[in-house]
Amino acid sequence: MTLPSIMLLLLLPLLFSAPSTSTARDFDFFYFVLQWPGSFCDTKKSCCYPATGKPTADFSIHGLWPNYADGSYPSNCDRQNAYDASQIADLMEILRSHWPSLACPSGDESTFWKHEWQKHGTCSESVLDQHAYFGTALRLRTQINLLQALQDAGIKPDGGLYSSTDISSAIRNSTGFEPKLGCNADGGGNRQLYEVSVCVDAKGERLIECPISSISNCPPRVEFPPF
Ligand code: 5GP
Ligand code: 5GP
Repeated sequence: MTLPSIMLLLLLPLLFSAPSTSTARDFDFFYFVLQWPGSFCDTKKSCCYPATGKPTADFSIHGLWPNYADGSYPSNCDRQNAYDASQIADLMEILRSHWPSLACPSGDESTFWKHEWQKHGTCSESVLDQHAYFGTALRLRTQINLLQALQDAGIKPDGGLYSSTDISSAIRNSTGFEPKLGCNADGGGNRQLYEVSVCVDAKGERLIECPISSISNCPPRVEFPPF
């Protein structure tokens, strides 16, 4: 037997055990998803404010979603790791301002946070425990000032129509990375800017270029409604 074939034989067990050991990945990257409250509230379904009152007119967090590079994603990964408010007690105040809920009947943010943790957060628990999951989302939100980026480019929440390409360019100029835009429809059926997603590495540390091409559901021109 030649030396290379002996080495191959020695390496084979390593090669086959690799996927189930340290190189196995629960997911490949995160989508960090922000929502424009004006576009949540002016739909046919309308919205409800939290007990603390009308949230600030700024982009707020929808979620931090683990994703696979083929476009699919895991969800509801660990029933045993239930949402536990006591683990994020020190983050509550800042979560209320950056991650409010606008869903009816009550705009109850803890229901929203619990849903996001159960559906998405449990799928990245190998990297981020509950405190780190919510803390990472808050850090990213503070790092990314979408409203400022858009206003700097003359794009204002004034109910006007803006080019989707211009919106993406303004965000890319500010963050350094191409965003994925999401649109919904206002009560009159007009398409409007509802969500902006950016991609984050699987450690939750840095913004990255999205590993998959971002197919937006926005038309070339979209409304940017006030809130
Ligand atoms: P929709 O159907 O409204 O786009 O999405 C409904 C929900 O499915 C989202 O709020 C989110 O929980 C999940 N979802 C939709 N698209 C994606 C995606 O590309 N990646 C991940 N991780 N979750 C998604
Ligand atoms: P996803 O679409 O992430 O799976 O789930 C969103 C869920 O959170 C929905 O059941 C929705 O009713 C609830 N929710 C509560 N507050 C909000 C909010 O402010 N924005 C969005 N997009 N969903 C919210």
